Amino acid sequence: MKTQLAIWAGKTAGTLSRIIGNGGNTIPGFVARKLDDGFLRHLRKNANTILYITGTNGKTTTANLIAHLQESSGKTVVANHEGSNMVTGISAAMVRNAPLIGWMKNDVAVLEVDEASLPKAVSECPPDYLIVTNFFRDQLDRYGEVDLLIKKMKDCLKAIDVKLILNADDPFTHRFSDLQKENLYIGVDSNACHFQSYTMGESKYCPNCQEELSYSVLHFGQLGHYLCSCGFERPNVTVNAEKVYQDEKGIQLIVNGEHYQTTLKGMYNAYNVLFAISACHALGMDLKEIKKGLTTYQKTDGRMQEFVFGKEIWKLNLVKNPTGGNVTLSEFLQSNEKKQLMFCLNDHLADGEDISWIWDIDMELANSEEVETFIATGKRAYDAALRLKYAGIPEEKIRILPSLKQAVLFAKGMDIPAYIMATYTCLSPMVSILSEAASLIRKEGPNSGVASIPFLPRYAKPVWGQRKHHLLKEALRMERDHRSNRGNQES
Ligand SMILES: [Zn+2]
Repeated sequence: MKTQLAIWAGKTAGTLSRIIGNGGNTIPGFVARKLDDGFLRHLRKNANTILYITGTNGKTTTANLIAHLQESSGKTVVANHEGSNMVTGISAAMVRNAPLIGWMKNDVAVLEVDEASLPKAVSECPPDYLIVTNFFRDQLDRYGEVDLLIKKMKDCLKAIDVKLILNADDPFTHRFSDLQKENLYIGVDSNACHFQSYTMGESKYCPNCQEELSYSVLHFGQLGHYLCSCGFERPNVTVNAEKVYQDEKGIQLIVNGEHYQTTLKGMYNAYNVLFAISACHALGMDLKEIKKGLTTYQKTDGRMQEFVFGKEIWKLNLVKNPTGGNVTLSEFLQSNEKKQLMFCLNDHLADGEDISWIWDIDMELANSEEVETFIATGKRAYDAALRLKYAGIPEEKIRILPSLKQAVLFAKGMDIPAYIMATYTCLSPMVSILSEAASLIRKEGPNSGVASIPFLPRYAKPVWGQRKHHLLKEALRMERDHRSNRGNQES
């Protein structure tokens, strides 16, 4: 009865929240958990098989891909599509999925789980399968916190019976193997492809003995083929990408001798595809169906999402840490068409309030002729602009437009595509602005009133908050110079 009440209350709260225009992705979960503590334990009533996906990068894409593949093969799926990956978000997905009375039993639950929320999720409802994608330094963990996090994650798995799907190329992820569970490894072969390289050094030390690992192949970050003198080495791979390449449709892979065409752009997505193939195979899906499903997957989540504006194809990708920034940038810079680069930077809790990680992105790589204009936007537009300036990009190529909509309008006026990197809380407003603009242009042609896009969240002025940025003065000077330059041009 308590559970039934929690579901009703959660559903009602979710509906009300939508009516008042609050979005409220996690509100049903929040309310349900208030009434029924440990609500997630009912997940078993909600799904026959439970699959969690965790790790720093690639969670959302992997989860969405698996959910799509399962659905395309006729399975019923409960999923937290919106990337609400804490226990309230997962509970919300369950509330939405539940009928008014009782539970709807789905074939499978495909749930993205935040790394820090994993222990709670596992204690309330242990999964049958767990995918661990990778670990990169996030905004907040610069001082060994990855190690602590991994320890907590491993501890919560000790007592349960779970099959692990791990990334063999990531020494951090490989550490889960000492849990002695049934492990399945995915990996990218040494000659499979060439990932664009960048200079940032991820932690490349042996988790056993702290010696520096030696690499025969380094794909990117700390991902590659590693070996330590103590014997710690990249494990044998079950699901092996022998070849990865990309054309205008998306990346293609040869995995264990089979060819897979996908709709995903970005070579680093190879890892997410490998996880999806392994998981669906483990869930009993047949090879033909997996292959077919990969060609029908549509991205709508701002992960390497494309927006068509007449002849221009704009690209948008989420960036939340240096590794993500670097792979995005190298992906963006692979085409040599003339382009604009937009950097949308917010510093809300979900983005990480400490934005110093942007200094670890190799923005220097973007300092090329192909990139004609750089647009810094978002709440911390000035910090984004400064990072660009210190990458050696001439100030006259940088525009600072804190309002996301203004930034899009400015970019639209340039007649070359914009490639956009956006932090977490910029992503969804950006998807809305771009989708709306793209549909206006489709309906009304290239000269439509894109300027009349109804306004979405507005960041009129950058908020510097209480933090003192030692570069603040310089940012303000850049802005002043900009204005006076503009004044000169206009007069
Ligand atoms: Zn070692």
